[in-house]
Amino acid sequence: MDNSQKRKIIVAIDGYSSSGKSTMAKELAAKVGYRYIDSGAMYRAVTLYALENNMIDPDGNVDSGSLGKALGDIHIDFALTPQGQHTLLNGEDVEHRIRSMEVSSHVSPVAAIHSVRQALTALQQRFGTEKGIVMDGRDIGTTVFPQAEMKVFVTASPETRAERRYKELIQNGTPAKYEDVLANVIERDHIDETRAESPLRKAPDAAVLDNSHLTHAQQSEWLLNLFHESELKANGSEC
Ligand code: C5P
Repeated sequence: MDNSQKRKIIVAIDGYSSSGKSTMAKELAAKVGYRYIDSGAMYRAVTLYALENNMIDPDGNVDSGSLGKALGDIHIDFALTPQGQHTLLNGEDVEHRIRSMEVSSHVSPVAAIHSVRQALTALQQRFGTEKGIVMDGRDIGTTVFPQAEMKVFVTASPETRAERRYKELIQNGTPAKYEDVLANVIERDHIDETRAESPLRKAPDAAVLDNSHLTHAQQSEWLLNLFHESELKANGSEC
């Protein structure tokens, strides 16, 4: 069977913040010719909207009623730019702004709001109707695409993840302190794991990848092998 005849699959990559799952997901998508969708960027874009429209008070409390009503006015999409995939919020490129520490420190409470999850889950499912996507997040294999043909749960120690995030911020010219980044990673893990709706969990049928001590090449090879196995399974024995 040649590539054009192969049945496309959905790849769901879930895991802790800054575990390297976005990098893996992006690379896998590029290698196999699939579309990459960053579901965390969608929650970040809604958080940026809430911050800019005064729906989050100085103590971090989110006005969930106003945000729920505004969801119809929030349009999120992705554009392919020479620098990679960028997130658009109502047509504006917000890729850089959604990665700020301010957004990072408010995103988990926003992502715990029922109406926000409902709206973004529906949007994510629309991106998956044609299959042929790699989506990363917290609940992709459990809630968004429980039928995904390939599921991965990525994990690494909080320190490894904070270091990765800290380096990314510094490289992008965003001032940050390692201790603050580590505290934010731990706090987001806690909120994401304990929220009532779609908490961060490994799907029972997800393969676990602990990348604390794996090289980049080892991760890529592991992921690509799993992709080929999953694709083969989805296509029966003809592939
Ligand atoms: O992946 P990233 O760290 O950019 O995600 C930002 C936040 O968005 C997470 O900490 C989590 O609170 C939320 N999120 C979520 N469900 C997803 C993706 C992200 O709740 N599928």
